[in-house]
Amino acid sequence: MKAVIIDEPFKIRIAEVPVPDIREDEVLIRVAGAGICGSDIGIYNGTNSLATYPRLIGHEYGGWVEKTGSRVKNVRVGECVAVDPVRSCGQCYACRQGRPNVCRSLEVTGVHRDGGFAEYVAAPAEAVYALDAGRVAPEYACLTEPYSIGMQVNERGQVAKGDKLFIMGSGPIGICIMQVAKSRGAQVMMTDMIKERLENAERMGADRVLNIQEEDLAAAVYDWTDGEGMPVIADTVCSVSSFPQALELACPAGRVVVVGLIDKPSAVAQVAITKKELTIVGSRLNNHRFPQVIRGFESGALTPDKLCSRIFPYTEAEEAFRLIRERPQEICKIVLRFADV
Ligand code: MN
Repeated sequence: MKAVIIDEPFKIRIAEVPVPDIREDEVLIRVAGAGICGSDIGIYNGTNSLATYPRLIGHEYGGWVEKTGSRVKNVRVGECVAVDPVRSCGQCYACRQGRPNVCRSLEVTGVHRDGGFAEYVAAPAEAVYALDAGRVAPEYACLTEPYSIGMQVNERGQVAKGDKLFIMGSGPIGICIMQVAKSRGAQVMMTDMIKERLENAERMGADRVLNIQEEDLAAAVYDWTDGEGMPVIADTVCSVSSFPQALELACPAGRVVVVGLIDKPSAVAQVAITKKELTIVGSRLNNHRFPQVIRGFESGALTPDKLCSRIFPYTEAEEAFRLIRERPQEICKIVLRFADV
């Protein structure tokens, strides 16, 4: 079979590799589509500190069940499925707390071990979830993963009906967080510096969008919240300065959700947290959120087809990577097609 492999930074190739074998508790999936994520670009650029090389990349993938091991009960051959990329030990403190997404020995397929940019992929049955192929086109099953990030952020920030949520950044993860929040009855403000991204955020359902190069952010936040500040903030900009800014714009008793993986410190005064009794939480990957996302796809509340800006055949993976790097304003999410639907 063919697979997309990154040998070292900036060296990507289509390779011939063996179709994986499956164990009795595993599923062999014929990949329909796979999403390109910012972290894949990081592996390509050599800026993803978690990745090792060479790597068969891709953690957003889905397709059809080709074969099941003898003990697999939850999916059947021919079903359309999405695969959760989180692999955990099941024994450490986090796993015992029911939070395998921060397992002490966490591995993510496509980052720490081989992933889904391939014609076939093997996955443990417990990580494989069926979708209604009549409602979700198989090439978009892969987008269950980025929406699961959005679902996790909403859970961590306890976003509920009537809440006002401020999402810093209008890239694909911001959009996923926003659509999940809208489906819960929250109102959402989003920012960016790229006009096209803000237009996209508005098209996808954001209530208020704001270009931080043109408008005063703090004034807009206080105006939109009747002077209170923001009850919930999700920072997808993840820069050194966005985190203290989020603490500043949060209202008393507010929640701030952090998803950044940068290791540079931000300067934060304790009083900013204490005085308003803020809840600051990290949100990493997803904790069994695939079923909730799939229900959102099937009800139409979440729209993976609209998240996707373009589909490329996998043979043009390098062109797709280059486009995301060089013209980010044109792209929200790119899906690589691995098989004809
Ligand atoms: Mn992703």
